[in-house]
Amino acid sequence: MKNSFKNKLLPTSTAGSLPKPSWLAEPETLWSPWKLQDEQLIEGKQDALRVSLHEQQLAGIDIVSDGEQTRQHFVTTFIEHLNGVDFSKRETVRIRNRYDASVPTVVGAVSRQKPVFVEDARFLRQQTDQPIKWALPGPMTMIDTLYDAHYKSREKLAWEFAKILNQEAKELEAAGVDIIQFDEPAFNVFFDEVNEWGIATLERAIEGLKCETAVHICYGYGIKANTDWKKTLGSEWRQYEEAFPKLQQSSIDIISLECHNSHVPMDLLELIRGKKVMVGAIDVATNTIETPEEVASTLRAALQFVDADKLYPCTNCGMTPLSREVARGKLKALSAGAEIIRKELSR
Ligand SMILES: [Zn+2]
Repeated sequence: MKNSFKNKLLPTSTAGSLPKPSWLAEPETLWSPWKLQDEQLIEGKQDALRVSLHEQQLAGIDIVSDGEQTRQHFVTTFIEHLNGVDFSKRETVRIRNRYDASVPTVVGAVSRQKPVFVEDARFLRQQTDQPIKWALPGPMTMIDTLYDAHYKSREKLAWEFAKILNQEAKELEAAGVDIIQFDEPAFNVFFDEVNEWGIATLERAIEGLKCETAVHICYGYGIKANTDWKKTLGSEWRQYEEAFPKLQQSSIDIISLECHNSHVPMDLLELIRGKKVMVGAIDVATNTIETPEEVASTLRAALQFVDADKLYPCTNCGMTPLSREVARGKLKALSAGAEIIRKELSR
């Protein structure tokens, strides 16, 4: 069963987070605080992981994840476990050139005290024989959510984080993770830095890994700061054009992208020809559940630029802010849409 995604055509997965149960965190809320503490919280997170896994399995998702049930925020939860960052010392910075946020301060050399997600990944591995994917923040997105009073160089801090991420990734691999994904929404914003050192630091983060590696680049959750920003991007979103040529040359195996309902011209995928592509065929910024045929038509369009054996149907981004019912419907639509295309390809 393990690694069966290498044999199955169009293996489905999600970009990351899934809704949390209401007994664990406030539902339909991004970055909601936990409702439990201490031992109860540990057990609650594990139970939520089981539920989330079960939902994915019922919906027929091929490459499963923890649904990010064990973390509050896709970047901050990782950084909380590191030395050198003071969470009580906060400064206001502009995140991804889009919105102001109060963020922690880098006050000294950053390092990892102990593994962050490895126990959680091991727990997920025990629950299923299916291939599993684990998400980590990417170096560039990490530095963009901090105030740096120590290195005073975005690039230097990114290289330090890349080393830490590499330690974590190697342990996740040893725990049985099949695909390690780095979330890099910042790749859609800081184009010069992406090409100067962003992709290089990402490659440092995956150095020596034998499992598959992915980078997820999206236009963010369906929150107001993001939807307002999207309105300024015009009728054609060509941001991917900036990072794709260098990513195509990079050692990253899989590129995870937002496609359905976005204004990304599909022909940009030509620029990463040869890479495996997680094609976002589910819009996470709307409660409208896609029909299987809508999913299929997005995948069909992507197939013009991605070889069938390299196409991984996926969601545009995480689904934490959605209701469980909507998320469930979207997962089922993703599976059913992929199945339509599998049948077409087998004819
Ligand atoms: Zn995303």
